[in-house]
Amino acid sequence: MEKHYSVAIDGPSGAGKSTIARAAARRFGFIYVDTGAIYRTVALAVERAGIAFGDAAAVEALLPELSVSFGYGADGAQREFLNGEDVTACIRTPEISRRASDVSAMPAVRAYLLDMQRAMAGQFSVIMDGRDIGTVVLPDADIKIFLTADTRCRAARRYKELAAAGSGMSFEEVLREVTERDERDSRRAAAPLAVAEGARVIDTSELNLEQSIDAVCGVISDRLGANCNG
Ligand code: C5P
Repeated sequence: MEKHYSVAIDGPSGAGKSTIARAAARRFGFIYVDTGAIYRTVALAVERAGIAFGDAAAVEALLPELSVSFGYGADGAQREFLNGEDVTACIRTPEISRRASDVSAMPAVRAYLLDMQRAMAGQFSVIMDGRDIGTVVLPDADIKIFLTADTRCRAARRYKELAAAGSGMSFEEVLREVTERDERDSRRAAAPLAVAEGARVIDTSELNLEQSIDAVCGVISDRLGANCNG
């Protein structure tokens, strides 16, 4: 049977995980799984249901009514589905970022999404990014990477993304949002953001995108003994 490889990339928001992991997956011919998008899809359902922040009982009661899934478009990009509706374009707002951080601290939500994530790694060679991939979802991953960068630098990247998407948020607002989300993700009891044992820490503060991709691919090819020839 063909061996499936798994690469776990964790780290705080704005460290460049998605862009870098997507590019690395393309280089190695692996499937890229953005687990944050899956939490965002649950967050959208919770938001639409009008549930108050922190109301874990109401969220838990909603979960059995939901059908959350993801697939890949013709262009290879991951697409999220909520009860059959393609919600990919609805989940990138600052409101859904806050919601995702709120619902992802709830153990029932994490349990609900765990099998879906593991099933992908059971079927394909994957590069999966998130907050708890190396610690909880794929503790036996072949390669673990913790991607980080200085807080202001991460906020600046996020600010640029949001500004390009037409958001009116100021840099200071984005900085506050990024800082609060990281604190909540790191302090929660359920699967907090943490460096997994054996993970290689890569700080991208001083690296541009190309250098960051090369750094991640270098770690992967060193461990897999494969060529990373982009
Ligand atoms: O990665 P992204 O910013 O899209 O994730 C949104 C939120 O989802 C994070 O702030 C975090 O609270 C949550 N998340 C998580 N575990 C993951 C991926 C995301 O708790 N594996």
